[in-house]
Amino acid sequence: MQVLGLGVAASALPRWSFAASPPASVSGNPGGAVGGAQPGGPILLNSNENAYGPSEKVVAALQNALPAANRYAHEEYEKLAEQIASLHQVRRDQVLLGCGSSEIFRMSAGAFLGAGKKLIIAALAFDPIAHYAESSGAEVVRVPLNRLYSYDLDAMRARANSPGVVYICNPNNPTGTLTPRKELEAFISKLPTNVHVLVDEAYHHYAGVSAAYASFIDRPLDDPRVIVTRTFSKIYGMAGMRLGYGIAAAQTIAQMKPYQLQLNVNTLAARAAMAALSDTDGVQAAAQRNANDRQDFINRAQTRNYNPIPSHTNFMMMNTDLPAEGIIEHFKKNNILVGGPFPPMNTFIRISLGTPPQMDEFWRVWDLMHIEGHHH
Ligand code: PLP
Repeated sequence: MQVLGLGVAASALPRWSFAASPPASVSGNPGGAVGGAQPGGPILLNSNENAYGPSEKVVAALQNALPAANRYAHEEYEKLAEQIASLHQVRRDQVLLGCGSSEIFRMSAGAFLGAGKKLIIAALAFDPIAHYAESSGAEVVRVPLNRLYSYDLDAMRARANSPGVVYICNPNNPTGTLTPRKELEAFISKLPTNVHVLVDEAYHHYAGVSAAYASFIDRPLDDPRVIVTRTFSKIYGMAGMRLGYGIAAAQTIAQMKPYQLQLNVNTLAARAAMAALSDTDGVQAAAQRNANDRQDFINRAQTRNYNPIPSHTNFMMMNTDLPAEGIIEHFKKNNILVGGPFPPMNTFIRISLGTPPQMDEFWRVWDLMHIEGHHH
């Protein structure tokens, strides 16, 4: 708590009040075509989905796949796994498909956790693996983030002194921060041999190329303890299709496979995914669009004297200096869902970037809050 600097006394908090608001004119589903929400339903800025939906090529592949819905996806599974293997230049036996990357997390828990084992996870990080760890009977050890809201790898290593898994979400959800590649390599090299490392690269495409960030798939570290996960839920805009994958050494994949659900991938999702991976222009356009949306968010936040945490993802974590519950409730009343609260970061909200009209509506609703005494 203190490392995060959140020990703000209630009396020191700025006061605020709410203006009455006209009904939202922008739904979560602008034009009724894309956006993923129900027409007239709330604007969904709470789950880090891709607000623009899948690319046209992916939509076309889904439509073409509809008549194949009666068939089990044996063939699609194989084709997709081969395509992923060749994309990342690994062997087919290093690829495992999941019902979302979530199923890869659960397979990892099945294979490498259980009674007497430990999951080491940052507080805060994306949490589902902690639930699978608990169900397996493992102990969950939460290690606070450092003062830059990034991973404290030294503290994590100190706790990883017995068999288990370390979960590294990079870039991290909900903070949007990066863990530098070099630090991660040094971290892994010092871990005991009986500790696996799960690197969750759900937001990989939003991180962009930089000196600090490199994927553990594309620049592999040849280590049977390392598992890398990717998802079709983010840049590819397919969260509702439920598809993700894991890449690891063949022996590691073989240990996880017994925990995989039989026929876990559906035909439509697999066909859409093949189109998504081939659509490199679509991916690049989505990444560029997100970079623009991110910059626009920063500009509009800074105009109001707020500084979101620098984000390498499709969402922004922002300190409001007020209890997050009230802010979230205000947005909810105005037909917008935002992410949080995320204790111990109790004054932060997480805003998944929406389309420009959705973000206009976000800022309009933000400005209905008359926050007095806010000086940054
Ligand atoms: N990993 C992280 C860090 C996430 O934030 C999310 C979605 O919010 C996922 C994975 C996606 O999981 P899935 O692939 O099961 O949709």
